[in-house]
Amino acid sequence: MAKVGVKAIVISTGNELVLGQSVDTNTAWLSDELTRLGITVVEHITVGDELESIAESLSRAGKSADVILVSGGLGPTEDDLTRNALAKVLGAKLQLHERALAGIESFFAGRGWQMVETNRVQAMIPSGCDIIGNAIGTAPGITARIGKAAAFFMPGVPSEMKKMFSDSVRPGLEKLARENCDGIIVRRSLHTFGIGESRVALVLGDIMARGRNPLVNCTVSAGVISISINAHGENEAAANNLSEATEKQIREKLGEYIFGCNGESLAEAAGRELLRKKMTIAVAESCTGGLLGGELTRISGASEYFKCGWICYSNQSKIDKLDVNPKSMAKFGAVSEQVAGEMATGARWQAEVDIALSITGIAGPTGGTADKPTGLVYIGLANEKETTVKRNLFHGDRDFVRKLSVNTALSMLIKALA
Ligand code: ATP
Ligand code: MG
Repeated sequence: MAKVGVKAIVISTGNELVLGQSVDTNTAWLSDELTRLGITVVEHITVGDELESIAESLSRAGKSADVILVSGGLGPTEDDLTRNALAKVLGAKLQLHERALAGIESFFAGRGWQMVETNRVQAMIPSGCDIIGNAIGTAPGITARIGKAAAFFMPGVPSEMKKMFSDSVRPGLEKLARENCDGIIVRRSLHTFGIGESRVALVLGDIMARGRNPLVNCTVSAGVISISINAHGENEAAANNLSEATEKQIREKLGEYIFGCNGESLAEAAGRELLRKKMTIAVAESCTGGLLGGELTRISGASEYFKCGWICYSNQSKIDKLDVNPKSMAKFGAVSEQVAGEMATGARWQAEVDIALSITGIAGPTGGTADKPTGLVYIGLANEKETTVKRNLFHGDRDFVRKLSVNTALSMLIKALA
């Protein structure tokens, strides 16, 4: 007999969310986690810091969902109303929860901080509810039953919410899903660069057909196309088998464009290859103003391969700092194949590294001319064998041109290291 499945509603609270000042990333993250467990997310609710609205959302969710996940509003201040709203819905009183208080006290003691009286409020829990320990923050989480639903209340701070969910909420939901859902979903993603979205769709053809299992989807961000494979199977092994078969097909068709999987960025893939080949790198940037160096050094452990970088925005600084020949500058201009090549070669010699990347272009929206339009970007790569320069014409706003320049440079680097 087919199992009925588990339905979930995800609620986030916060004025900053409904006012559009912050983007609600918690709901996206939680929904992805639930989907992977085979739990169906049927609704997202975003509600401001208002007791009545939170209470109304909770009781409504309790009528239709099996699981309710709530984030935010567990702090110690006046606008943190989730505890009060829950108490109202349950018709319960807020009581001092001794274990919650002990947890908050030990959080402060462990850091040598003085606990302020307002933090006691975070240990006030509706009677009959239990708490969820918070290893990295003050606010304990709360578990409750609302109507037919099991509800879990977590902090709004994304890092605290993720840790609490992973440590204390997911294991129980995994069990619930196993008992009530027909199988699970395994999700993998493959990341490509250097090929357009419509071309990917054309090449993959039926693999992307709707209603197929695994279901294959594409998303695009600054030239990176991520192909997600969502395989549904009655157990993990069955789902993995389906997923692997589809992955193999995709790799056969798009292998040359695939640089990484499961969230790996271009910079991470480049870093991985630099480590593998024990090579060092330096960057010389003009129109990207340090974004390339920023991407490469975002990764912990980058000191193993990243030596240094220059932001040479003016023509003279390219000559002074990177040994660009003044004659090349005068004859071809700063945005040219020659200057990009000399920037890369100069950076490689100055930094004494194995590989250097250079970027020089016109990010726009002003500064373009008929023969050097906005979006024209030269990217150089110098290694022990040679210096190569790629001419690119990117279409988009300043931000997009700069991001695409960085991604193209990283992709050239990955290819050179392959
Ligand atoms: P807590 O329950 O931990 O006290 P809170 O809602 O009281 O959370 P806030 O002070 O409102 O905490 O938010 C703390 C930080 O977490 C803020 O930077 C806020 O933007 C962020 N945050 C809260 N909810 C979300 C969410 N749904 N998605 C992303 N960020 C969030
Ligand atoms: Mg809040």
